[in-house]
Amino acid sequence: MYYTKVNQDNCIACGLCQIISPDLFDYTSEGIAFSKMDLNAGNVPIPDGRFEAFLDAYRKCPTGAILRSDRPFPPAEQRF
Ligand code: SF4
Repeated sequence: MYYTKVNQDNCIACGLCQIISPDLFDYTSEGIAFSKMDLNAGNVPIPDGRFEAFLDAYRKCPTGAILRSDRPFPPAEQRF
């Protein structure tokens, strides 16, 4: 079981993750990405059927802004 969120300080708003994995990633009006299922809290597990698309986005993010963990991320301040 894996969890994901976007380090929004490192996101350059390229839009790639949302194109590759629209079920998992969306972006703000400024183009900054966030994990869609949990509004970037990183506490909802990635569904099995979405994991390949997640990995593709994770590997292709040009800045490494997509984070991955095998446990829920701790609460943190988010920017929307
Ligand atoms: Fe941001 Fe990376 Fe997604 Fe591009 S692929 S929008 S840099 S998180």
